[in-house]
Amino acid sequence: MVYAFFVGHWLLSVLFQSVFQHRYAAHKMYTMGPRTERVVHFLAWLVQGSSFLDPRGYAILHREHHAFSDTERDPHTPWLHQNAFSMMWKTKKRYSDLAHRRIEPEARFDGDVPSWPWLESFADAWPTRIAFGTAYSLFYFAFATHWWQLALMLPFHFVMGPVHGAIVNWCGHKYGYVNFDNGDKSRNTLPFDFVTMGELFQNNHHKYGASPDFAARWFEIDPGWQVLRVLAWARIVTVRTPQRAVYPEALPKAA
Ligand SMILES: [Zn+2]
Ligand SMILES: [Zn+2]
Repeated sequence: MVYAFFVGHWLLSVLFQSVFQHRYAAHKMYTMGPRTERVVHFLAWLVQGSSFLDPRGYAILHREHHAFSDTERDPHTPWLHQNAFSMMWKTKKRYSDLAHRRIEPEARFDGDVPSWPWLESFADAWPTRIAFGTAYSLFYFAFATHWWQLALMLPFHFVMGPVHGAIVNWCGHKYGYVNFDNGDKSRNTLPFDFVTMGELFQNNHHKYGASPDFAARWFEIDPGWQVLRVLAWARIVTVRTPQRAVYPEALPKAA
């Protein structure tokens, strides 16, 4: 039971992060009506719970990442950190400064993001975050069959969003294969990214920043895009046309 809850919460949480905060808030890879946007925004909060990420803070941080990928101004390149924790800590600080408007970003990174001030301040309040944490804990107290499930699995539910971010930002710019020479260190970690719903196609995504499909070659499968295709087929969203590479012309040139 706790395994199903863990896997379900993991996949839904990262799916909403990929489809709502990333592909919609930061990149506008698809459009939807204002009421649909509210429903998706609300569901993202419900699913991400204690670690819900403010779409504006996420979008600005992420647009900075694209503009400065793997340079000193990148908010989370693994190449300037000894380990993922120090990278996460720096990312967390800049994210909360942006989300709480303690720092002003460059104007080109701001704007055109879904905004729901009431929900965002409610989601960010400690009593709300603690209530989610309590609910996860009660579930584990009721259904866990081994003590280590509480010790090793439960904490992930509290910080699911940042954990997904760290996996993508660390592995996606460090491990995997390269399709395109983007002038940075972005990589495709898995040809079928079932772990983070397509987010680990960083090399493809940095090449085609506006394409809603993160897969670029025939054998690559992006689960987040498959979900968007279904939503587009059901006329819930309107997607941009995916950009796909023509091979082998797009292969990186030998240095
Ligand atoms: Zn990246
Ligand atoms: Zn992006």
